[in-house]
Amino acid sequence: MPRVLADLYPEKVFYYFEQISAIPRGSGNVKKIADYLCFFAKVRQLEWERDEADNVIIRKPATPGYEDAATVILQGHTDMVCAKTEESTHDFLKDPLDLRVEDGWLSANGTTLGGDNGIAVAYGLAILASDDLEHPALEVVFTSDEEIGLLGAKALDMSRLKGKYLLNLDSESEGILTVSCAGGSMTTVTLPFTRSH
Ligand SMILES: [Zn+2]
Repeated sequence: MPRVLADLYPEKVFYYFEQISAIPRGSGNVKKIADYLCFFAKVRQLEWERDEADNVIIRKPATPGYEDAATVILQGHTDMVCAKTEESTHDFLKDPLDLRVEDGWLSANGTTLGGDNGIAVAYGLAILASDDLEHPALEVVFTSDEEIGLLGAKALDMSRLKGKYLLNLDSESEGILTVSCAGGSMTTVTLPFTRSH
C-alpha cells in the first residue's frame, strides 16, 4: 500500500505515525497498540516490559560516548480521543485512520487524527529504531488511557524507572517540551455568589 505520509519529515517519525494510525487505539482500547510496541521492541532486541495497565517501557542503551550520561525518559500516551463527523462511518474499534495531507496539513478523513499523543509515540519509536542518532541511555515510556483520567500513569510502577530526567512529549503548544511534568490534578471549587442585574 502506498504510504500517505511518505513525503513528510522527519521521515522515520511519520513512518511510525502512519504505522500506529493503522491501529485502533481509542482510550480503553489500547491492547493492540501495546502489542505493537512490544513486538517492535522484540524484533529489535530492545529491553521492554509491559504491565497490567498496558503501559509499555522500552529501553535502549547509550550510543558510544554517552555511556556515563544520565538516563533520559521520554514519555507519551498511546490512547487517543475518538471523535468523528456526523457523516463518518468510521468504526474506532476496528478501522485504521484514513490519513491525508492537504495544503501542508496532516489530518484524518472524518475523524480525529490522534496527533495527541500519537506524535510522541512516533517520536519515541523513531528514536528507538534509529541507528544514526547519538543519545544517552533511554527509557521510552508509553502510558495508556491518559485521556480518561491518566489511568496508565497512575498504575505505572515508578520504581521500574531508572531515568533521572523525564521529557513529557504531550504539550498543547507547538514547539513546547514539558520537562518533568508531574501529571495532572483536578480540583472542584465551590464559591458562594449572588446574582446582580
Ligand atoms: Zn495527550
